[in-house]
Amino acid sequence: MMTISDKHNCCGCSACQQACPKQCISMQQDAEGFLYPQVDTSSCIDCGLCEKVCPFLHPYESRTPIHSYAAINNDEQVRMESSSGGIFTLLAEQVINDGGVVFGARFDKNWQVTLDHTETIDGLAAFRGSKYVQACVGDTYAKCSKFLKAGRKVMYSGTPCQIAGLKHYLRKEYDNLLTVDFVCHGVPSPKVWEKYLHELVETVNLQGVLMRDKQHEGWKRFNFVLDYKKEGKMISLSSWHQKNDYMNAFLRDMILRPSCYACKAKECRSHSDITIADFWGIQSIRPAMDDDKGTGLVLIHTAKGKGYVPFDKMKYNEVTFEEGYRNNSAIYRSAKPWPRRTEFFRQLDNEDGVVELIRKSLRPTAKMCLKSFTKKLLTYPIRIVRKAIFIMGEGKTEITQRNIHKENLNVVAIPVAILRTYMISSIKFRDKQKGWSQYSITIEMQKNENSIIKLKI
Ligand SMILES: Cc1cc2nc3c(=O)[nH]c(=O)nc-3n(C[C@H](O)[C@H](O)[C@H](O)COP(=O)(O)OP(=O)(O)OC[C@H]3O[C@@H](n4cnc5c(N)ncnc54)[C@H](O)[C@@H]3O)c2cc1C
Ligand code: SF4
Ligand code: SF4
Ligand code: SF4
Repeated sequence: MMTISDKHNCCGCSACQQACPKQCISMQQDAEGFLYPQVDTSSCIDCGLCEKVCPFLHPYESRTPIHSYAAINNDEQVRMESSSGGIFTLLAEQVINDGGVVFGARFDKNWQVTLDHTETIDGLAAFRGSKYVQACVGDTYAKCSKFLKAGRKVMYSGTPCQIAGLKHYLRKEYDNLLTVDFVCHGVPSPKVWEKYLHELVETVNLQGVLMRDKQHEGWKRFNFVLDYKKEGKMISLSSWHQKNDYMNAFLRDMILRPSCYACKAKECRSHSDITIADFWGIQSIRPAMDDDKGTGLVLIHTAKGKGYVPFDKMKYNEVTFEEGYRNNSAIYRSAKPWPRRTEFFRQLDNEDGVVELIRKSLRPTAKMCLKSFTKKLLTYPIRIVRKAIFIMGEGKTEITQRNIHKENLNVVAIPVAILRTYMISSIKFRDKQKGWSQYSITIEMQKNENSIIKLKI
């Protein structure tokens, strides 16, 4: 029987609830606004199925994709409506055109996010674009299973943990199922979203929400837009994500689900066929693929997944996996909770209003200011050395802020400065000799043919 003693160990996928043969599990919202399973012990027959299908009790092992691409949908309008390269829609259209069904996330009538399905191309529009709120899975696994058993093609898209939950729930592979997840930073609380929205505007007057508007500020400085009606007039409330309180609370990791701080579906552990993401850093990796309208990173994990990619309908460039994750730590690292997260949620039901509470909770403490100041002070000499190396290297060494993993740069800069009479002949950023997650850097430096140094960090 399912009991959640530590909330970090439940992603809320509801696989347990949907699998229970006695329907004795219900998903209940906790004080933070996240759903957790609750068992009616009087009907439970102790069959153990709920535990068997739990993706957090039985996480899959990590994987390395078989192909990685930078990709852009040729359809400009669809790309502008999507968060990054518009690749989700391309994959979904393939399935719909084959008579299939697509599952994705959309806003419901109360502007909460829910997983749903569509059988039409027009129906895909509601799924386009990121919604930074945890989506309710509902009974979509059971529905997906029915479509699969009826022989329909199905594409199921969602967070990595939702895909892992689906695969555990199904308990067998289906040739007619395509699973697509995205690189996931984490999901914010539906309760915080509801409170924020209600404080800003009456939901009956709300006409649209865009959490990743690219029209105003481009793809890299995305915008948050609320469209609503006031006294018969349309009003558009738009703010760059760093100036928006809700987006700040999300991006600074204050309002994420506890499981997102200890995610067991990262490192490609969802076992999806395809993972899509923003290709951060594309401007330095493949500058020709960047026009600030959105470039997707497409990670292919299976031959079946590759078969669904319509290469003729997109501009693409194959990259290494390392190039793909270099600037996207959410692929392999969980977020760290904002220091005042617990305090924030403790005060969430107070009357003061959520916007003020977000602002107050995000204000740095004296300890945080001191830490940041000390860090800056300590890294300043290193930054000067780094700049000097780049100038002295006359562009021969390829060390820049962009093409080297940030955290390792400082460690690399010092030995390189000492040995600057040597030319760097190769840099391996992910030497996997100690394993994939325990990566190390190997730098090979050469003065002349007989003088080679290998630096392992
Ligand atoms: C909460 C969240 C966090 C993310 N974090 C990162 C990150 O750290 N790094 C990164 O590179 N990319 C992240 N992404 C993914 C990225 O923003 C794009 O969604 C992805 O690159 C696909 O873009 P696209 O242009 O191909 O398609 P889009 O049309 O933008 O993709 C939409 C897809 O996202 C799904 N979706 C949207 N919101 C939700 C939701 N709340 N729950 C479940 N599914 C949803 C839709 O069903 C659809 O499948 C995140 C997305 C979300 C929703
Ligand atoms: S043990 Fe079986 S009956 Fe009991 S809650 Fe779990 S799945 Fe349901
Ligand atoms: S992770 Fe999913 S299956 Fe496991 S307990 Fe939570 S809701 Fe149930
Ligand atoms: S970070 Fe992990 S646990 Fe959180 S929603 Fe994303 S995949 Fe699920």
